[in-house]
Amino acid sequence: MHSGTMQELPLSRRRFVGSLLLGTAAGALTVGRAAADAPPKLDVKDPAAMAVGYVDNANQVDTKKYPSYVQGSNCENCLQLQGKPGNEYRPCSLFAGKVVAVGGWCSAWTAEM
Ligand code: SF4
Repeated sequence: MHSGTMQELPLSRRRFVGSLLLGTAAGALTVGRAAADAPPKLDVKDPAAMAVGYVDNANQVDTKKYPSYVQGSNCENCLQLQGKPGNEYRPCSLFAGKVVAVGGWCSAWTAEM
């Protein structure tokens, strides 16, 4: 009597563990897909980025090349920045399909109104 129950137990445990693993795999796939959907970061060597002197850290602005640089200006306080505050990388209306560093800067910087 008891032996029947004992024999079933490992099988149900195996099924339980199996479904847990499947759940974890499905979760990992979902997370992977979400990451793949995130727009790529704008590369500073991207020709479009280089054309406007984009840097991903405003402290690296070549002020000799860009004398119009305003101290303290960066993507975060630029009119062109889109997306939700709080994210380190956000879309910019200048670079469709890419995200820029909020601490970055380019010569198209325009003060927020
Ligand atoms: Fe940053 Fe503004 Fe240049 Fe976009 S336009 S990269 S938000 S400084």
